[in-house]
Amino acid sequence: MTTQPTKLALRAGAATDRGQVRTANQDALLMLTDLSLFVVADGMGGAKGGEVASRMAIDTFREIYVDAGATTLTEVIAEVNRRIHDASDDPSLRGMGTTAVILAIVPEEPDSETADALADPPQHLLVANVGDSRAYLFRDGGLTQLTDDHSVVAELVRDGQITSKEAEAHPQRNIITRVLGVYPEVHPDLWPVDPVRGDRYLLCSDGLFNEVSDDQISAALRRLSDPGEAAEELVRLANEGGGRDNITVIVVDVIDDAGLATRASAALAGDQHGSSRPAASDPLGFSAALGTRADAPVLSRSARREARRAAHKEAKQRRTRLTWRALVFAVLVLGVIGGAFATIQWYGTSTYYVGFDADEVAIFRGRPGGLLWVDPSIELDTGILRDELPPRYLAAVTAGHQHASLAEAKVYISNIERDIEAVNRAATTTTTTTTAAPSSPSSSSATTPTVTAN
Ligand code: MG
Repeated sequence: MTTQPTKLALRAGAATDRGQVRTANQDALLMLTDLSLFVVADGMGGAKGGEVASRMAIDTFREIYVDAGATTLTEVIAEVNRRIHDASDDPSLRGMGTTAVILAIVPEEPDSETADALADPPQHLLVANVGDSRAYLFRDGGLTQLTDDHSVVAELVRDGQITSKEAEAHPQRNIITRVLGVYPEVHPDLWPVDPVRGDRYLLCSDGLFNEVSDDQISAALRRLSDPGEAAEELVRLANEGGGRDNITVIVVDVIDDAGLATRASAALAGDQHGSSRPAASDPLGFSAALGTRADAPVLSRSARREARRAAHKEAKQRRTRLTWRALVFAVLVLGVIGGAFATIQWYGTSTYYVGFDADEVAIFRGRPGGLLWVDPSIELDTGILRDELPPRYLAAVTAGHQHASLAEAKVYISNIERDIEAVNRAATTTTTTTTAAPSSPSSSSATTPTVTAN
């Protein structure tokens, strides 16, 4: 459904659906475009209570807001809370409650005598929320969440105890820490916003954002200019994503801010996205109303303490598991590094080679030139000098002639020595023959023993 533009030049569209799993729709919505009031409520508290609570919230917002123009939003919310709480005296409705996220033009909160005295007090645009229904701002193609969820997991994420990713699968993700109607008092967050022409506000229940990613939401808001069509498309996407909860969406477009942005900017210290920290936050934190979704009963105070303890315990156990995983990972990494170190050490010292130690041939343990930090060491000096090494060995020994074992290297040295001996013997024979020619044959037998002795 879509309504026409108003004097404030807002245009809005909405859609709601039971989803694919639930038998009833406990969400409810209010869209009064002419009065600039938009509400999404997500009821909880059993088969009947949730539906009654969200419906009561919508009806009360409509009644009070229309009838009492100068009432502040805080007062409206307090009255809605009181009425639902009173109605829960009925045993069949005991413990019922509802979230509410509200976008409204309201008079400034009468926090000064001056504001009270004004017959036509200045107005500004506010987002208010209790529970985990959300308001987003879609501006210049970017989606910004304006509200903080009042839920156990959102508190843990804000405290840095768990990540957003862990929150998605957290066993306590359904527990909300503030709700309308469960306790006599409620503390809403109020977020002043600074509307700019072209802005698009999105109000929704958790049935949307638990099924549809921010990117998908942005794409739909970018693609469909009609707010009603955009709302219908978002509900369709949530159903396509599983539809495990009721889904409610309101899309509000700022067609013309009519000077409100300028006035609001002057009145409020908003940030560049048009929002600021809550104007009124819950001073009680966890001690404020806490309830659960429609698929679980509302918790008593002792159960709330238990739930909070369990949530902290879960976070602590998660950190412990993380610590153990980090330790095991560190041991594995050290094992791999140690193994690599040992392998290189073994590989660098497992072989031998014959090479030069200065001008003397030696057997080395290791690899020619070394391997990383493993330098070769001299295993055996052979006494063979570079000058006496037969030429055919020179290149191999200079490069380092490798062998699988010390015994194999020694055999290689033996071959060198044998060759040296053969060369010397041949040289001696040649010398003897040359020098003996002019002499008598008997002189050669006197030279030979000298060479052999070498
Ligand atoms: Mg829900």
